[in-house]
Amino acid sequence: GISQFTVTLDHRFARELPEMAVAGQAAPVPDPRVLVLDEALAAQLGLDAAGLRTAEGVGLLVGTTVPEDARPVAQAYAGHQFGGYSPRLGDGRALLLGELVDVDGRVRDLHLKGSGRTPFARGGDGLAAVGPMLREFIVSNSMHALGIPTTRSLAVVATGRTVLRETPQPGAVLARVAAGHLRVGSFQYARATDDPDLLRRLADHAISRHHPAAAGVAQPYLALFEAVVAAQAALIARWMLVGFVHGVMNTDNMTISGETIDYGPCAFMEAFDPATVYSSIDHAGRYAYGNQPLVAEWNLARLAESLLPLLHDDEQQAVALAVAALGRFRPRYEAAWTAGMRAKLGLPADGNEEIVAALIGELPGLLQADHVDHTTFYRALATAARGDIGPVRSHFVEEAAPEDWVTRWQTLGPDPDAMDRVNPLYIPRNHLVEEALAAATDGDLGPVERLLEVVTAPYDEQAGRERYAAAAPVDFGAYRTFRGT
Ligand code: AMP
Ligand code: MG
Ligand code: MG
Repeated sequence: GISQFTVTLDHRFARELPEMAVAGQAAPVPDPRVLVLDEALAAQLGLDAAGLRTAEGVGLLVGTTVPEDARPVAQAYAGHQFGGYSPRLGDGRALLLGELVDVDGRVRDLHLKGSGRTPFARGGDGLAAVGPMLREFIVSNSMHALGIPTTRSLAVVATGRTVLRETPQPGAVLARVAAGHLRVGSFQYARATDDPDLLRRLADHAISRHHPAAAGVAQPYLALFEAVVAAQAALIARWMLVGFVHGVMNTDNMTISGETIDYGPCAFMEAFDPATVYSSIDHAGRYAYGNQPLVAEWNLARLAESLLPLLHDDEQQAVALAVAALGRFRPRYEAAWTAGMRAKLGLPADGNEEIVAALIGELPGLLQADHVDHTTFYRALATAARGDIGPVRSHFVEEAAPEDWVTRWQTLGPDPDAMDRVNPLYIPRNHLVEEALAAATDGDLGPVERLLEVVTAPYDEQAGRERYAAAAPVDFGAYRTFRGT
């Protein structure tokens, strides 16, 4: 229909990669109600926020009213889930509505999650519940505010439909925006078809959308792989520095763009411990906090395998090129992480290499031994740099434990103001997220809105918001996340 609300959607993925696009249609939504809408993101996309709240706009956000020439599709992909290969996963409950161009001229996917069953749904109902979709909205907003590449959340719209989980839940659709939804699993899918033309078209599409610098060099597909290695090394370093535990780093949940994707069982670590796992289904700790760099490298090896036919006609030579390129993950990750640690400690990018390496090397042991909160510790350290070691001491059972370390660190002249610009005060703490989601599920959005206010300004102390900066009370107990459905 005609209205003031207009949006122009391209369908480039469907056009260039028809073998990986299955036409889809959103399920009817009996009673759509906008729960949260990111108006700044809407503006960035050139979408009128007031228009998005009209019946037609909301219809776009849930997929029931799409432009006449739009071609919503479910994307095909494969993937290793907890190490086991599934040849056909794909968007079981998601639709790519199409691509749009934002106000800065960047192409963005407009994507829905929870919009009904697709041919990839297998046994799933294709739906999503309010709680998990608001969790993705909150955590992705936090990640963006922390400067970490991520898919974005435009809106969560309650559907008025009940979805059956452990208990009946109110249903919702998340409207998601990303530089792109290509995954390592997309390449695994294309490779498994044994169609070299499809694999090449997918790689060309990925280069054009995400890593254009790889076009026009002598070996563009090797350059594509190197660019993904670099993007993921930088991304995982950012996760580690902030204590983010993704929880389900399957190859279908790792993007080619280098954006964080799929906020299912994710959580922020509180007490520092590399073995931290929150997901109720990650029994072996495969995706524990401290394993994330290794898992990323493993996933990139699966990408390399998928790309082999494009790297060289001779398989041995293709493997040699892939191995050499993959070998750059560790040094890139180490460099990004070390630079980030220096910044967290208020130190310049270089100088005093030996003493800084020793300090950084000793820190995990100190923090782990006393279950020190990964977030509040660095703010307390800034206070120590300002002359008051009290808050650091109070993080430790034996209050003198960190003093030798702090004394050596202080001789380096750390800059506390610089520290407060990189060490967040507010992260979406698990007990606060649960409290906010429970209230929202019962119809009260106040706690979600207040949590969003702090996590979207994570570095600036907000008066009266002390509880948002504090670790979970002991009675919150051990935290478990579920599959994010
Ligand atoms: P994930 O663990 O979120 O990465 O999802 C893995 C696969 O399960 C993907 O193919 C999803 O599309 C699919 N999936 C997850 N939940 C549902 C659901 N409720 N209905 C249909 N498919 C789903
Ligand atoms: Mg997924
Ligand atoms: Mg998921």
